[in-house]
Amino acid sequence: MTPRRSAERTVRGPTPESVRAVHAGLVRARGRPPRQRRGDPLDCLIGTLLSQNTTGANSRAAFAELKRRFPTWQACLQAPTEAVIAAINCAGLARTRGPRIQAVLARIRHDQGELTLDALHETDSALAMTYLQSLPGVGPKTAACVLLFACRRQVFPVDTHVARIAVRLGWAAEGASPERIQERLEPLVPPALRYPLHVNLIAHGRLVCRAGRPRCAECVVREHCATGRRQ
Ligand code: SF4
Repeated sequence: MTPRRSAERTVRGPTPESVRAVHAGLVRARGRPPRQRRGDPLDCLIGTLLSQNTTGANSRAAFAELKRRFPTWQACLQAPTEAVIAAINCAGLARTRGPRIQAVLARIRHDQGELTLDALHETDSALAMTYLQSLPGVGPKTAACVLLFACRRQVFPVDTHVARIAVRLGWAAEGASPERIQERLEPLVPPALRYPLHVNLIAHGRLVCRAGRPRCAECVVREHCATGRRQ
């Protein structure tokens, strides 16, 4: 057994009371995020792939430019890869993302018979997670984002912000990967809280519990946080 696995065993995860208290504190501070309407799962998937390791502004600009140059996903798939890379350049890592987006589109067309993921709306969440994660470059966070935002499922994606806060709160072990934290946390977060807690934790991670020095003195969930209580 590796030392990391053994360290994870010492963190039992949050209690239901702790999850509800953090959710309530964040809602008091930031409000309850409005639920979006059902969206296009394929658009959401490509947008989420573009959002990794870049800012929201850059990924939105790259997605808009991709759609402007290639009004249909079929056009994007058939375009020269260099043209796709040029379209998404502002998101960074374009030489990795461009071929990956075309590989994802090719797989979907092969599997679905057309360039759509609309069938996910009628697919059980566990099966949908499995299918999405079988696509090139799609991990549990990206798959869960598609289901949460486009299909309005009650899943709990864990990105780097949510993972960092979970560790600081004492909900997850130091060094645990976001994938591992997602696997352990989702069953502990009541389904109705998964959407608002995910959205509010990301905002909290950007503004207060930042990657550098967290602003614990102004944190609304400090009394429920292992790190905050130590300071
Ligand atoms: S108390 Fe500090 S470490 Fe804990 S969630 Fe708030 S900002 Fe993050």
